[in-house]
Amino acid sequence: MAKKTGSLSINSDNIFPIIKKWLYSDHDIFVREVISNACDAVTKLRKLALIGEFEEPDDYKYRIDVIASPKDKTLTFIDNGIGMTADEVNEYINQIAFSGATDFLEKYKDKATDDQIIGHFGLGFYSTFMVADKVTINTLSYKDGAEPVFWECDGGTDYTMSDGDRTEHGTEITLYLNEDCYEFANEYRVKEVLEKYCSFMPEEIFFTNADEAKEEKTDVVDSTASEVKEKKTKKKASKKADKKDDKDEAKEDSAEEDGKAEASEVDAKESEDSDESDKGEASAEGESDEDEDEELDEVLEDDSKEKPINETHPLWTKHPNDCTEEEYKEFYRKVFLDFKEPLFWIHLNMDYPFNLKGILYFPKLNTEYDTLEGTIKLYNNQVFIADNIKEVIPEFLLLLKGVIDCPDLPLNVSRSALQNDGFVKKISDYITKKVADKLSGMCKTDRENYEKYWDDLSPFIKFGCLKDDKFEEKMKDYILYRNIDGKYLTLTEYLEAGKDKYENTVFYTDNEKTQSQYINMFREQGIDAVVLDHNIDNPFITHQEQKHEGVHFARIDSDITNTFKEEVSEDELKDTTDKLSEIFKKALNNDKLTVKVEKLKNAAISSMITLPEETRRMQDMMKMYAMGGMDPNMFGGSDSLTLVLNANNQLVQYILDNPDGDKTGMVCEQLYDLALLAHAPLEPEAMTKFVARSNEILALVTK
Ligand code: ADP
Repeated sequence: MAKKTGSLSINSDNIFPIIKKWLYSDHDIFVREVISNACDAVTKLRKLALIGEFEEPDDYKYRIDVIASPKDKTLTFIDNGIGMTADEVNEYINQIAFSGATDFLEKYKDKATDDQIIGHFGLGFYSTFMVADKVTINTLSYKDGAEPVFWECDGGTDYTMSDGDRTEHGTEITLYLNEDCYEFANEYRVKEVLEKYCSFMPEEIFFTNADEAKEEKTDVVDSTASEVKEKKTKKKASKKADKKDDKDEAKEDSAEEDGKAEASEVDAKESEDSDESDKGEASAEGESDEDEDEELDEVLEDDSKEKPINETHPLWTKHPNDCTEEEYKEFYRKVFLDFKEPLFWIHLNMDYPFNLKGILYFPKLNTEYDTLEGTIKLYNNQVFIADNIKEVIPEFLLLLKGVIDCPDLPLNVSRSALQNDGFVKKISDYITKKVADKLSGMCKTDRENYEKYWDDLSPFIKFGCLKDDKFEEKMKDYILYRNIDGKYLTLTEYLEAGKDKYENTVFYTDNEKTQSQYINMFREQGIDAVVLDHNIDNPFITHQEQKHEGVHFARIDSDITNTFKEEVSEDELKDTTDKLSEIFKKALNNDKLTVKVEKLKNAAISSMITLPEETRRMQDMMKMYAMGGMDPNMFGGSDSLTLVLNANNQLVQYILDNPDGDKTGMVCEQLYDLALLAHAPLEPEAMTKFVARSNEILALVTK
């Protein structure tokens, strides 16, 4: 082919500077774009071979190589896929790909970054110019009689095309990195990016550090023949020893082995596994000092015998029946680096009406401090798109950990368009439905495990109910409440059990420790209460009340229910109340104090604090939203507390009988603090006083 130069058909002369500046934060995306093109090229050729359109040698190994050279500041991607003819380079690279990039920039250059297209799909091949000053393509089409093509573009709008020198079908793309982007020639950086985007791509990807490979080659060349021989003998010996044990393994591995590793130490371990490594000896022995290139090739090949960097058949692509429990757990550990075992998982596997595969794990919450933060990784045909795309994955599912692969997703649209896309909504609904089915199914058929998992599941399920009506509709009968005796009940079961004592009221504690006095009272009277102590429970309670008309949730210290008291008329206690109220107001120096006197069945209880449920909820809300400048006492701070005194208690009796006694003030203060303590922690100053007073009292007792 005669050397051809041309101008890329675009309007703007300055497109490359724009591309370079584009998406500063995820520059690394070009790796995904180039390698997914390479995967496509390989997959296409594989398919052509399958239908007989292309004949490949037996045992042909399709592969993609990523070669970084920190010295040369280059990054090269090689695939042995379909390759391109000159016409195709013209069509796909010079025209289509470029117009794609132009359209992309036209569309998005003015938009704020939060409306970037998902994962910036669509920029494709030209995203390489984000990091490279010059890019070359060396390609040979698989087609009979095709000529190799070389394409080069230095980041301006001009390209050159000439004869290439590739001898094997496929494409080699070299990036001459821009000064600011030398990091992408660094082995660790490249591996990091490969891991991020390419871990599960469907064709094998191998990484090589070209500089190291060259050094390796020099080492080999420098070795004397006897050294090489010695190495070989050693390896052979160890291989023979291993062979007996590793027969099975070796069989699996041998397909990938050609035994050429002999002369280098790079890969001793892998060769040890090989049954066929002896075969390689001839080639190893044939090494000569002169043929440096061949040696380099060999070393490169040796490197490639290390495992590919990716897993081409990730677990989610398999049929659930073919996956073992250990495989699910191992996948979880590997992908999410979470070494706590997941509780259980859901394998999504759908072909119709859309394609969707994935695995959702329910993580175990280790401590109450664990933040609920999951990760859902979204893939498109095994190509990683991004984490936690809430336009596709229902928000509450983001608390889980999992992978979703949906090849049908329209990714070349903006996020806001995605959000309003009916198809995407269907995907999201499907996932929600599957999760609800799994959970409700488990509750119905395996209640024991469901109860066991409940504490871990509960925040997730409650959040789901708050966020998603359809999910709530499916889950509403499968929400459990753990009671103060550690039993798990549904709302209906709880209300049914206590319908004589507390009709339509759900008593709950949000702190089993500080509210233990109330809990004991409940136990004594045979009244059940449930534990609702997670952050999510506050909004969830309100939500439940809206959903179940007539049902009311009350914290166990919000009021004293009739069950705890003797039946007495208010008049009977009026006198006592007035008296005690006056004494306490004086003793505590608090005019606003509300005192209520009851005759509690349990005479041991002296004093209690109650706070009406509604008031407390308002206060909690104020605290939660930390409404700056507003006084949380606006809804009645400590003023709305009621001090309940038990007329049956002897200390209360003492106060009544000795309104002016010299110890009365102290007893009043102590009873008030004790009541407060069982309700909430004391303020530091009050706590100090309480401790001092307690010591004083003990001193009196032991005098
Ligand atoms: P897209 O992949 O979205 O089509 P790209 O700009 O990434 O856009 O690539 C444009 C086209 O160039 C591809 O569709 C493909 O036909 C061709 N192409 C790119 N890379 C390769 C490759 N490694 N091998 C064969 N063809 C390729």
